[in-house]
Amino acid sequence: VKRHKVTIVGSGNWGSTISKVIAENTRAYPQLFEEEVQMWVFEEQVTIPKTSRHFDAGSELCITPQPLSLIINRLHENVKYLPGITLPSNVVANPSLPDAVKDSTILIFNLPHQFINRICESLHGKILPYARGISCIKGIEVDESGVTLLSEQIGRKLGIYCGALSGANIASEIAQGKWCETTIAYDPPLMDSRHPTPIGTPHGGSPSASTINLVDPSGEPRKRSARLTPLPADYPPLNHENVRHLFHRPYFHVQMTSDVAGVSLGGALKNIIALAAGWVDGLGWGDNAKSAVMRIGILEMVKFGKTFFGDTVHTSTFTEESCGVADVVTSCMGGRNFRCAKMSIERCMSIDEVERLELNGQKLQGTSTAVEVNLLLRGRGMENDFPLFTAVHNILQGNVKPEQIPELIEPKDS
Ligand code: NAD
Ligand code: 13P
Repeated sequence: VKRHKVTIVGSGNWGSTISKVIAENTRAYPQLFEEEVQMWVFEEQVTIPKTSRHFDAGSELCITPQPLSLIINRLHENVKYLPGITLPSNVVANPSLPDAVKDSTILIFNLPHQFINRICESLHGKILPYARGISCIKGIEVDESGVTLLSEQIGRKLGIYCGALSGANIASEIAQGKWCETTIAYDPPLMDSRHPTPIGTPHGGSPSASTINLVDPSGEPRKRSARLTPLPADYPPLNHENVRHLFHRPYFHVQMTSDVAGVSLGGALKNIIALAAGWVDGLGWGDNAKSAVMRIGILEMVKFGKTFFGDTVHTSTFTEESCGVADVVTSCMGGRNFRCAKMSIERCMSIDEVERLELNGQKLQGTSTAVEVNLLLRGRGMENDFPLFTAVHNILQGNVKPEQIPELIEPKDS
């Protein structure tokens, strides 16, 4: 019997944290997974900061900038994107994307969403045809044909099945082993599950994601994914149970579902809501204002899901799961989108400037998601139906001010 080889595509703040989680589990389940976990690193030259526990003024590693992958493999720490956290020694940083994914049956996509298309292009023809993916990325893709989930986009571009992981998951807390929950949507065709599995999910089971009928407002069903190459029978099945084994830790509690669209949309749209929460907090308006933004944001999230993904999305995914309401709450309390939006008010700077000055290379997802969502809404004449999402976009564009949020999101008599 073969075992699954796992590669994490990405090594930022969340990518490095998920590598740690997974490497602990590949050790815990040697019958299912190869112990070594490959982590693809977007290579850059890094100097170990003076504040690092690894700083040693006499060491070559600290005098001249070194490739980040080399530093991670020597120190077992991503000193730039996840400082202060020891990665298990079975995480191997690899700057070569084709080499990192070679022979892997499980690909975990975890990088800022603006880079995923280029990564998929470089991966074309380099992965096993029967590989399976899970996207931990929070974002969506919009073009003239409509909105696409990133898991769907990855699946289509690579010709594989790709599920989604999302939740109230501030990476630095999880990296320190602080308890939280997450939601994983994984619903490939039944051929992957030779043992009793994912049918009968907590939500009553949506259609298999490989045959999911995504709808747009014109009512047209969207293209179905291509046929999948079956996972060879000598691998352990990739069913809910085994996917859960890959991610679940005593401090990282996994709920499995089949609602890929709901899980993905929750993670993407909450970043827009967190920007608005940051602005009202920066204005000093207090917790009541912030929770008003959260309430309206969750309603728009549900409406967005129902409008663009029809009945394939379960409202309960947004209102009951970690990837919905809980992620809105945590992101509006301590996420980077929230913090940078708040600082932009306090320091009278643009949010892009705050991102550049404060995040040391980490990327905000809310600013580009707001633009993408607006492109979709404007194209369909629906901006007024989503006043909070529209207000956030207009504030980012400089058309209106954060102080106008209450009047901008007030329900209008039609
Ligand atoms: P991050 O913000 O730390 O981003 C930086 C990463 O982008 C680095 O690994 C950097 O090397 C890489 N990068 C820079 N330029 C690149 C390029 N041209 N091509 C490819 N990679 C490039 O990343 P993150 O926090 O790991 O976020 C990844 C995803 O996970 C995002 O969608 C985010 O919303 C989501 N997420 C983040 C957290 C969190 O707390 N950090 C939690 C849950 C989900
Ligand atoms: P930020 O990207 O705003 O930090 O949000 C992190 C997150 O997704 C928490 O669940």
